[in-house]
Amino acid sequence: MLGLLCVPAHAEARDIGRDTLPAGDGWASYGAGTTGGAAADDAHVYTVTDRAGLVRALDNGSDTPKIIRIAGTVDANTDDGDHLDCADYATGGYSPKKYLAAYDPRTWGSAKPSGPQEEARKASAARQAERVVLPVGSNTTLVGLRGAVLKGASLQVRNADNVIVRNLDLRDAYDCFPVWQPNTGGLGDWKTAYDNLWLTGATHVWVDHVTASDKGHPDEAEPTYFARNYLRHDGLLDITNGSDLVTVSWSRFTGHDKAILIGNGDTVAGDRGKLRVTLHHNAFESIAQRAPRVRFGQVHLYNNRYEVTDGHRYSVGVSTESGIHAENNAFHTPGHVEAADLVKSWNGTALHQSGTLFNGYPVDLLAIHNAYNGGSERDLTADVGWTPTLHTKIDSAAVADREVARGAGAGRIP
Ligand code: CA
Repeated sequence: MLGLLCVPAHAEARDIGRDTLPAGDGWASYGAGTTGGAAADDAHVYTVTDRAGLVRALDNGSDTPKIIRIAGTVDANTDDGDHLDCADYATGGYSPKKYLAAYDPRTWGSAKPSGPQEEARKASAARQAERVVLPVGSNTTLVGLRGAVLKGASLQVRNADNVIVRNLDLRDAYDCFPVWQPNTGGLGDWKTAYDNLWLTGATHVWVDHVTASDKGHPDEAEPTYFARNYLRHDGLLDITNGSDLVTVSWSRFTGHDKAILIGNGDTVAGDRGKLRVTLHHNAFESIAQRAPRVRFGQVHLYNNRYEVTDGHRYSVGVSTESGIHAENNAFHTPGHVEAADLVKSWNGTALHQSGTLFNGYPVDLLAIHNAYNGGSERDLTADVGWTPTLHTKIDSAAVADREVARGAGAGRIP
């Protein structure tokens, strides 16, 4: 029974494993609501302390009601308890040095990488994916016990319904094998594979009191190759491919480039009418972009706290057919980041915002966006075509600012 540990109930102040999303708490409360694994029988309540135990409990994404408690630090990059580093996954003659030599744009040009090093990279990446990609099935609750950390993993809720992830520190979904994409954005870019948590075709998901970061391997410490930052991480929480009815509350997204992507393509017509997400009482700290970036979805963004630092590109991204209803959010920025830098639009047409605080002062992000967009982005209207009805008490931005600073993230469930 390696990896399974008996933790007496009194070790925790309260068993949060059977909690369900309160009625009316955001889009995940719509319809049948979100209960996760609350219906699990005793045989399907697990406490896991390592990757192998977690994999067994997840049961290959089965839909049997189950509650999985994570205790201590679980490292996804392990085999039989031994830590695996990137060299352990490398196969087929892959080496970062040879890869860089093979696809240097000055000699290789702008064609998509192909040939022995790219083949070896793919094979190596598949070996890592087999370790770190962890499927979460329907009717599952995944909770951290006090101080629990899941590092190196990409939790993936794929075509599943009714999932709760709470009180968990999701750290460093590190890609050993980024791929060079010469045709991204003019200069080319490095593309990485893993989100800390990825909802794809997922419905009724409640993410609460989660902390998500790159902790251990910050991307700003990575080198620059081909004049681009060699990124190791993709999203912290991506919600794509027809996912719908998601509530993200009291969570902390920190120290990362692209935090939350809702909708991953302008032409994914199947996303129309879906991607309904509520984000409330979350902290966004030192996030460069996508907090969130939205396509298609009706997104209620209220009572969030933003702490912007150097390297910031934008916070709220307004993309194709998005309907973001933002209210009572508080932003803190260093002097050189202005209110006009907080919103960016690509093909977006509307943004509702009200009650925003910018460094303690009321500000109208919409008016500022339209006044300062420099003609490069179209003006946005205030009519996003819907008004949220599923929400808990909406605080003033000033109150939310204080409460989120104190209460968001893993280890802070009251
Ligand atoms: Ca992603």
